[in-house]
Amino acid sequence: MAAGSLFIIAAPSGAGKSSLVNALLAAEPGIELSVSWTTRPPRPGEQAGREYHFCSVAEFQARKQAGEFLESAEVHGNYYGTSQRWIQEKIAADKDVLLEIDWQGARQVRQHFPQAISIFILPPSIAVLAERLRKRGQDEPDIIERRLLAAGGEIAHATEFDYVIINEDFSAALNAMKTIVYASRQRFAAQAARHATLFTQLGIHV
Ligand code: 5GP
Repeated sequence: MAAGSLFIIAAPSGAGKSSLVNALLAAEPGIELSVSWTTRPPRPGEQAGREYHFCSVAEFQARKQAGEFLESAEVHGNYYGTSQRWIQEKIAADKDVLLEIDWQGARQVRQHFPQAISIFILPPSIAVLAERLRKRGQDEPDIIERRLLAAGGEIAHATEFDYVIINEDFSAALNAMKTIVYASRQRFAAQAARHATLFTQLGIHV
């Protein structure tokens, strides 16, 4: 039994996922973020090994063949994958781990770790989502339209998640995420793993 929790966070782009995740990690240093592998080129300001491990399609495929990924998926024409070994090491060390992945990856992770806690972040309205997408670089209406369509495709899978947070007010959404994290730490299995001696002394047999 492991004392740590595995969190999966997904959202359409424009929901404010990255800002929420960064604020959660800053507030809760006990949670470790998995750094994925991707074939997407780095964006300005991104650093290898910090946002992603960047690699070629050939390297990605070789790693996938070698069974290095717990899950992998193609998202917006690029490949993404989560390192299996890193996750196993953290779980073995009773750490809380957070995966920022899409719905396809979330499905695969649930198959291996049914106890994973999945959170979906939604924008408060279509208008706010469109506005946030419009602010991202190019303003061409067809590009925004395409992004809205892609967002709709991701949102359709919100039904598969344990929790939904509507990101209207940033601090309220952050508090909701923290509440889920705190609650997960009190789950029976986590407490039994953390306080094995106490449980035995109290006659609680797991
Ligand atoms: P971006 O390229 O904008 O950082 O991410 C694009 C999408 O890929 C986001 O929905 C993000 O959550 C997802 N993503 C990032 N890393 C992974 C991963 O390791 N696996 C999967 N399945 N999706 C990922």
